[in-house]
Amino acid sequence: MLSQVVPWQRITSRCFNSSRIVLLRNASSSSSGGEQQFDLVVIGSGPGGYVAAIKAAQLGLKTACVEKNATYGGTCLNVGCIPSKAMLHNSHLFHMAQHGELKKRGIDVSNVALNLPVFMKQKDDAVKGLTSGVAYLFKSNKVTGIRGHGSVSGPGQVTVKKEDGSNETLKAKHILLAVGSEVTPFPGINIDEETIVSSTGALSLKQVPKKMVLIGAGVIGLELGSVWSRLGAEVTCVEFLSHIGGLGIDMEVSKAFQKILTKQGLKFKLDTKVTGAEKSSGGISVTVEGAKGGNKETLDCDTVLVCIGRRPYTKDLGLDSVGIQMDKRGRIEVDKNFQTSCKGVYAIGDCIQGPMLAHKAEDEGIICVESIATGHEPHIDYNCVPSVIYTFPEVSWIGKSEEQLKQEGIKYKTGRFPMAANSRAKTINEPEGFVKVLSDDKTDRILGVHMINSVAGELINEAALAMEYGASCEDVARVCHAHPTWSESFKEANLQAYSGKAINFS
Ligand code: FAD
Ligand code: NAD
Repeated sequence: MLSQVVPWQRITSRCFNSSRIVLLRNASSSSSGGEQQFDLVVIGSGPGGYVAAIKAAQLGLKTACVEKNATYGGTCLNVGCIPSKAMLHNSHLFHMAQHGELKKRGIDVSNVALNLPVFMKQKDDAVKGLTSGVAYLFKSNKVTGIRGHGSVSGPGQVTVKKEDGSNETLKAKHILLAVGSEVTPFPGINIDEETIVSSTGALSLKQVPKKMVLIGAGVIGLELGSVWSRLGAEVTCVEFLSHIGGLGIDMEVSKAFQKILTKQGLKFKLDTKVTGAEKSSGGISVTVEGAKGGNKETLDCDTVLVCIGRRPYTKDLGLDSVGIQMDKRGRIEVDKNFQTSCKGVYAIGDCIQGPMLAHKAEDEGIICVESIATGHEPHIDYNCVPSVIYTFPEVSWIGKSEEQLKQEGIKYKTGRFPMAANSRAKTINEPEGFVKVLSDDKTDRILGVHMINSVAGELINEAALAMEYGASCEDVARVCHAHPTWSESFKEANLQAYSGKAINFS
């Protein structure tokens, strides 16, 4: 590489060298006095818990994973990432067929109709396949799966309350809490999961709403709002903030995103708060007013989606019994080793601080159990955790936004490349959006990447790799990228950031 920048120190502890891992040879594997003994008991089988349990077993720890639900996989596999992405993909295909997008490409389809039960079945089949896949992985990695509600009942002890009312006690050298999160309720609005729904109900509506009001235009609102809008609902998003996409999104992307979604038919009421929702025989009346008061209005609809965030789920977990501390937002407090205030009890994922994302939970789970098995200090760079909104086009980002850089007084350069100048995007008639790279003014190191385009959820992983390795824009711009690909837009944005000029756009 010709980059003049000083090479940054590689973060080696993240890139664990498995040959250095000393497996626990004397792993407890016995059962004494009717109590099963384990090296590690994981409570919760979401992406944080199940991945941690498998990794721990692979490292030689005798591991159990306790799950209260009938299936493994937690929020992500059962009522989160997986079902929502099935519905996003299929509703996009329906929308393309119904609104002439296929016709424009010479594909004539007539009598396009939605078969909602089949649409839902494909989603349910995907969930079933993946959740039973976790059960298979537990078996093949020799993780003991235990069904029931787990709680910490003393140092090194977990009690599992089974469905039949019986209790089982597990002895554990280490306990990992991976209990995830639940929907934040809206005070005064009763979620019945029929007409006033959370994301869970919105994944299983029995018919397409005529008019849907979303409370919150964050990630869930925009993804599930897109699904039902594409299927025919008139969707209005009420958002407290003056932008869409939630916290962390770059404002330039957020504005472009809102324009595109508005063109697709979604309506937005920003700087607006919901004050209540009342059901009557005629439907639901949602009362709203300006975020700072005034401009009172009533929105009539047949379905309300409450999506104002999620909160940690720590109900009946026995935290008090061993003195585990929580922060003001109800999250379990952990140190840099993910250890709670009780020695030998760890916590990861949605129930601790940080973004509530499946891949963040997974990575924490892996490095936490690696640290338990080896004694090495875990390391994760939260600045390199990507965020994706799986709408069409997709939105993704990693690192700092322009607003954050300005706030922190960091001097930066900007490289932009529009998808309309990317040959692949043009070829397949998906020219909306752009890629934006922010780099350190002096060193050229990449500080943040923000994009909106058809494949932003995939493309952001190249940015994650570059940032994890401390790449400069010149480093990326000098990597040979296959043609014609979307990722050439990332290369060109980097080229523009460091040299001031892209090749295919001026
Ligand atoms: P969870 O997945 O919540 O799992 C916790 C598990 O613990 C659950 O199975 C629960 O039943 C179990 N449990 C809790 N308490 C106990 C107990 N006492 N005993 C036994 N078991 C217990 N993230 C992304 O990265 N990408 C996405 O596309 C995405 N889409 C989403 C879409 C929706 C609609 C929602 C709601 C969320 C989405 N998320 C997405 C967020 C993602 O689902 C969470 O960040 C992720 O599931 C957190 O993983 P976790 O393991 O910490 O917890
Ligand atoms: P969110 O934090 O993304 O968005 C909630 C939005 O509601 C915010 O914009 C907030 O300003 C707004 N809001 C809060 N109170 C309001 C009120 N009274 N009136 C109007 N607006 C109000 O939360 P979410 O969309 O519920 O998602 C929950 C979590 O699930 C997020 O942390 C997210 O990371 C995760 N998730 C991730 C994905 C993904 O990665 N693609 C998809 C879905 C969910």
